[in-house]
Amino acid sequence: MMVENDPGNFDPDFWLDYFKKVHADAACLSAGGIVAYYPTEVPLHHRSLWLGDSDPFGYLVKGCRDMNMSVIARTDPHAAWENVNQTHPDWIQVESNGEKRRHWSNPKLWVTCALGPYNFEFMNDVHREIMELYEIDGIFSNRWAGHGICYCEHCQKNFRTFSGLDLPETNNRLNPIYQKWTEWRIVRLKELWLLWDGTIRGVKATSRFIPNGFPDKIITGAQSDIFFTDHQARRGMIPPWSNGKRAKELRATMGMKPLGGIFSVGIEEQYRWKDSVQNEAEVRVWVAEGTANNMRPWFAKFSGVLYDTRWLGIVEKIYDWHYRHEKYLRNVRSLANVAIVYSEQTERNYGGEDWQNPYSWHELGMYHALVEARVPFDMVNDQLLSAEQLQNYKLLILPNIALLSDAQCKQLKEFVHNGGSILATFETSLYDEHGVRRKNFGLADLFGVSYSGPVEGPMKNSYLKFNKDSSTSSYHSVLEGLEDAFRMINGVWRLNVSPEQDFPSPITLIPSYPDLPMEHVYPLEPDTDIRELYLRETEKSRVAYIPWDIDRTFWSILNVDHGKLLTNLVKWTLDEKLPVEVKGSGILDITVWQQEHSIAVHMVNFTNPMMMKGPFRELIPVGEQAVTINIPSEYNIENVKLLVSGKIPQYDISDGRLMLTIPSILDHEVIAVDMS
Ligand SMILES: [Zn+2]
Repeated sequence: MMVENDPGNFDPDFWLDYFKKVHADAACLSAGGIVAYYPTEVPLHHRSLWLGDSDPFGYLVKGCRDMNMSVIARTDPHAAWENVNQTHPDWIQVESNGEKRRHWSNPKLWVTCALGPYNFEFMNDVHREIMELYEIDGIFSNRWAGHGICYCEHCQKNFRTFSGLDLPETNNRLNPIYQKWTEWRIVRLKELWLLWDGTIRGVKATSRFIPNGFPDKIITGAQSDIFFTDHQARRGMIPPWSNGKRAKELRATMGMKPLGGIFSVGIEEQYRWKDSVQNEAEVRVWVAEGTANNMRPWFAKFSGVLYDTRWLGIVEKIYDWHYRHEKYLRNVRSLANVAIVYSEQTERNYGGEDWQNPYSWHELGMYHALVEARVPFDMVNDQLLSAEQLQNYKLLILPNIALLSDAQCKQLKEFVHNGGSILATFETSLYDEHGVRRKNFGLADLFGVSYSGPVEGPMKNSYLKFNKDSSTSSYHSVLEGLEDAFRMINGVWRLNVSPEQDFPSPITLIPSYPDLPMEHVYPLEPDTDIRELYLRETEKSRVAYIPWDIDRTFWSILNVDHGKLLTNLVKWTLDEKLPVEVKGSGILDITVWQQEHSIAVHMVNFTNPMMMKGPFRELIPVGEQAVTINIPSEYNIENVKLLVSGKIPQYDISDGRLMLTIPSILDHEVIAVDMS
């Protein structure tokens, strides 16, 4: 990405050499929008003040073309200069107080309205010009989707035409008018995407518009032939698996279409040191996690002039490894048999009550538990639950997927009817798709319980009592590893539900009791018959329903007992082997993919004191890992190798399972199994 004073000051040949050195397949190069890096003729399109007679964009395009690289132009439409404001004041975003919005970071600029003529007319002309001059392979627009509600004359008029309403006064996401605005914004942005894409294809049919982000993953998956995640690095309390999570979410709606993972070589914290360089260990683990989740690496560097060059060698090593092992990274399908469902409709329309916040913690807690349990898994979008879409999964996990339509509930029942199993928590299916509470769970038949209310909490000092099965005098397998505990801590909120059939009672409620004064810290009701876990078995399926917030509490306090219970519940509901089992110490994220003639098992090593708050200082190897991989019965194993250490491992085959031991993993290891 060029900066305005790059032309004449940076060395384009240095970059072309670097692209060659890292075997880059493609480059995304700054072209226009706020600043044009080519001799534009579009009125009001601001040429870099350093441009003169030069065309640095064109020079780089030609250099990339000569190396057979694909080229994408980067545009940024989110800000404009004073002359734009003078000529077309209606192109500028208006705030709720009626004032036009100055750029928050650079007050010489104005923030543009994303949903009006600036994008629909001016930027469309810019995109056409770039395509006509350079016939590149695509245009990628950054910050194209606006920054909050715009109250300009166009937005007022267009929103009224769409909804009959005035623009919402606040961005409270549960305000019905704001929800309507969100709906309108998605419609409008999709129109813009189609408009720009049509303009681009009109010049070159194989080229595409690629937006940097879109507020609906179903539309993203349907519209895109290629997409990129803009989740460049960790900041604050982001765990390293977060990069893989973004990939899994988009994979759910994009299928196996290519997905690029943009990563920053610099620090991504809130004070935005855009010319900084991150530590090698942090960059390596972040990119490895993206690769393990089927993303192609895309490094992002601002400014053609370099101040700190330490990143160059790091990226070169990463790209060189990719270049050498590309055939094992071109996956054709995931082999995971477990998936977490995610729900954009629940994210948008749920959360008015105390016990419903923070909603995202349910998903984060479940995600973290599966990583710790070394379960390879995918994510599934709740709008894509047909039998065909779910055919590869044995177990679906619903971490408080509170909003589900009747049709979605029907699909989930069909999934179970066809032999699938379900693990669900808390208010899953208690609301319809609009957020209106049902009298009973939409999935009451599957859970075998009815909602009786009320919600109880926040509970302090409440516990779960473990009970032996009266016929076998032993604990249920979901309590494995907890047998000596007698009891463990409860969550924070629970629902009162009534069983509609007979259930085992492995776990019952010990209600909250005083935590002060110390003299009164003893259970007032040490035993109840209120179950805190409902386990159902049918001929082919298992259903586990947990009427409390185990996943959210786990994310909040990361208690090891909650993690063990979740792991056991996944094992029990799945009731078949995982495609890969890895035994050993440490925290590894495991993924498994099939390529045309091979299987690749990725293991990313998160074992590090900086795991839950980066950045990693150093990579710390984990020791021996015993790995078992299911090989589909129609294949023969030809060859097994380790792509990171470069070693050829010893292995055994028994019962269609390949077994080997990995002596150590530093940041990432890939077991590649060639098959015929
Ligand atoms: Zn506007």
